[in-house]
Amino acid sequence: MSPASGPKRIVLLGATGSIGENTLRVIEAYPEHLQLVGIAARTHADHLARIAQRHPAVRQVALFDAQSAARARSDGHFPSGVEIHEGIEGLKTLATLPEADVVLCAVVGVTGLEPSMAAIQAGKDLALASKEILVMAGKFVMAAAREKGITLRPVDSEHNAVFQCLADNPTKDISRVVLTASGGAFRGRKIEQLADVTPADALQHPNWSMGPKVTVDSATMANKGLELIEARWLFDLQPDQCQAVMHRGSLAHCIVEFTDGAMLTHLCPPSMTFPIQHALLHPLRLPPVEPALDLRQPFSLDFEPLDHARFPLLRLAIEALRSGGTAPAAYNAANEIAVEAFLSERISFLTIPRIVEQTLEQMDHRDPTDLSAVIDHDAEARRLAHTFL
Ligand code: MG
Repeated sequence: MSPASGPKRIVLLGATGSIGENTLRVIEAYPEHLQLVGIAARTHADHLARIAQRHPAVRQVALFDAQSAARARSDGHFPSGVEIHEGIEGLKTLATLPEADVVLCAVVGVTGLEPSMAAIQAGKDLALASKEILVMAGKFVMAAAREKGITLRPVDSEHNAVFQCLADNPTKDISRVVLTASGGAFRGRKIEQLADVTPADALQHPNWSMGPKVTVDSATMANKGLELIEARWLFDLQPDQCQAVMHRGSLAHCIVEFTDGAMLTHLCPPSMTFPIQHALLHPLRLPPVEPALDLRQPFSLDFEPLDHARFPLLRLAIEALRSGGTAPAAYNAANEIAVEAFLSERISFLTIPRIVEQTLEQMDHRDPTDLSAVIDHDAEARRLAHTFL
């Protein structure tokens, strides 16, 4: 739904996180093509106000946390005339703004689900950075997008890479989609060496600069597991067609293998501005906002098989992917609880997969009939995971 002329008007949900920051870099580099018209965050009102000051077309903002919204209204740091919405209804108002062409959802966790569905139902182009949305409710989100004739624009670097490699190739010609994994902070270590690692150790990602949750998920490989589930829905694949391979350099983001044995990959530096720029401007291609790979410097691409015993959360994700139904939602919920507990130093690194495994074992995984069944299952998995802490 691009306007006939003038810039595409963007709503950014999750404006103050790491994806949000990179999205703003892209929007600010191309003011003639992209215009920010709405922003939302969880609690960071002052940060949101500074963004609104730089973007005069932003007239509507939302804060998920009602207290932060109330404070923002009384503090008056927002430019005058800006309307401040709150809660999940506030996020949905932003996701369906009549003037918006593209909604980029980078809200962490399950909070992004309802606003993303609302954006699709309002006929907006949806750029999706929050992987939990498809992991939990891929069946419903993809059905709604198909019904509205909307193509989701993946923002996650690997999925954006797959999207670009697939181009117009029909799904029936894909034999498999392989996502690359850097291995995260502890990739050189054996599993026995991980008993005493701290949150600070886990947050040292070798290649990517990202938020804390996804950085820990990279070290456990839960991130790749969630991405395999995401790929299954985005590209309409069978579980066994979604695979992962270790690639330490994070320069190649996927390998798409076709039925004739041809393999395509996508190369760019490990920075989110590349996939975000593609997701926002597609099908338009413009120079990147930071340097592309420099082919005057030597570089190599090495790939190694992933050891599933070394990464129990990858194995559990693949099992959840194969089980289908609500199993991926439970996997995601239990992992979120466990990572939160690890980051606040309540559990050890190696306890994270144990909590996820126990939660998955104790729950019944059924085929959800509607979105509320998924949301209930998510809440139940969270409750159960807490009991294992
Ligand atoms: Mg990724």
